Amino acid sequence: MSTVETRDFLVVGAGVIGINIARELKRRHPDASVTVLEKEPRTGEHASGRNSGVLHAGFYYTADSLKAKFTRDGNRALTEYCDEKGIFLNKCGKLVVAATEEEDRLIDELLARGRNNGVELQEVTAEEAREIEPRAKTLRRAIFSPTTSSADPRTVIAQMEADARDEGIDIRCNAGYVKSSGNRVETRGGIFEAGHVVNAAGLHADQVARQFGFSKDHAILPFKGIYLKSKEPPGAYRTHIYPVPDLDYPFLGVHFTITVDGVTKIGPTAIPAFWRENYNGLDRFDLKDFIEIGLRSASLFTASEFNFSKLALTEMRKYSRKHLVALADRLATGVDVANFTEWGKPGIRAQLVNTKQRKLEMDFVLEGDNRSTHVLNAVSPGWTCSIPFSAYVVDYLENNLSSYP
Ligand SMILES: Cc1cc2nc3c(=O)[nH]c(=O)nc-3n(C[C@H](O)[C@H](O)[C@H](O)COP(=O)(O)OP(=O)(O)OC[C@H]3O[C@@H](n4cnc5c(N)ncnc54)[C@H](O)[C@@H]3O)c2cc1C
Repeated sequence: MSTVETRDFLVVGAGVIGINIARELKRRHPDASVTVLEKEPRTGEHASGRNSGVLHAGFYYTADSLKAKFTRDGNRALTEYCDEKGIFLNKCGKLVVAATEEEDRLIDELLARGRNNGVELQEVTAEEAREIEPRAKTLRRAIFSPTTSSADPRTVIAQMEADARDEGIDIRCNAGYVKSSGNRVETRGGIFEAGHVVNAAGLHADQVARQFGFSKDHAILPFKGIYLKSKEPPGAYRTHIYPVPDLDYPFLGVHFTITVDGVTKIGPTAIPAFWRENYNGLDRFDLKDFIEIGLRSASLFTASEFNFSKLALTEMRKYSRKHLVALADRLATGVDVANFTEWGKPGIRAQLVNTKQRKLEMDFVLEGDNRSTHVLNAVSPGWTCSIPFSAYVVDYLENNLSSYP
């Protein structure tokens, strides 16, 4: 019979959210035993190591949202963390440009959101925008966000993992959560008796939550983000350039991201994925998952609050390199399709759908009781938000521990 290990806190998922929750738990409860279970051979194999690496500023979201508060605070916290740990940040800032009259009108809404959220923004004329980024194209004005920057997500998670281990947190790779019964948790790396389980399983968070009786009205709908890398030398673009997004969706539209080494990439898309880990070709194909996601997508395709059929068809077109480059061409001058021949590493968004209301959840969602806590919809900008959002998850957990019998 295999031995059973006892843990005060068992966190499922070693992405930025799981690792930061574990660190916060250890900070508040130094004597508690904290283990993080990761199904992959290393941490950050999914969204946390495959994202755009942009530290967002927090002006896309309405002030009543968790995303607004935690993006603003998270940008500061992650900037401080990177500065303290000597992780290079490209403090390049970002321009949001408007290509049409309608987008120009929405600039006011974004500026208002930024003001309400306490985010530093500058409204600039088209001429001033070109002084900041000579290649930026905009109708008559733009927004400059000086606090938007970028870092290498793999470097960040590697540092967070190292810090967590130094603090006495046990991170177990190749130890995927399988199932649980009461407090007993079966994993690919042994059996645990857990005081409290925290589910930060990203793309699989809804499946884990269901085993605890949660996520009844929610399910993951995966969206794939692909990128095209520019062949132009570092420095060809100075700042990130984003379009005005469609505020009805949680995606920001195809944009230019400047990586830490000054290289530019365009993307990411939000193309519906056929299964949760549908990164490349048939890699990581999972028949059960394919059927589940396929049925959900087909059902939403026929009727949804967010016009999934239109979104899916619009996004699918972005598999075309020419089309993706044409979208980027709306934002900047001198965009030549010949410079965009190499696809970057794709990422998949663990986007949550409310299955009853048939709508996309726009904010982070937490569910739980005194036995378990479930982080659902930790989508972009979850990486930026990770430090303060994880503290909020632990507040939520502690509140449940004290209020349930
Ligand atoms: C294309 C793309 C671009 C993005 N760009 C940005 C950006 O520029 N800025 C920003 O702030 N945010 C960005 N995001 C969002 C950001 O990456 C996520 O919000 C964040 O990484 C979520 O972290 P996580 O820990 O919840 O998820 P993940 O990193 O996915 O971690 C979940 C972990 O759980 C593990 N797991 C799953 N199932 C199990 C199981 N059964 N047992 C054990 N372990 C399990 C997985 O292997 C994984 O390591 C982007 C996301 C994508 C996809």
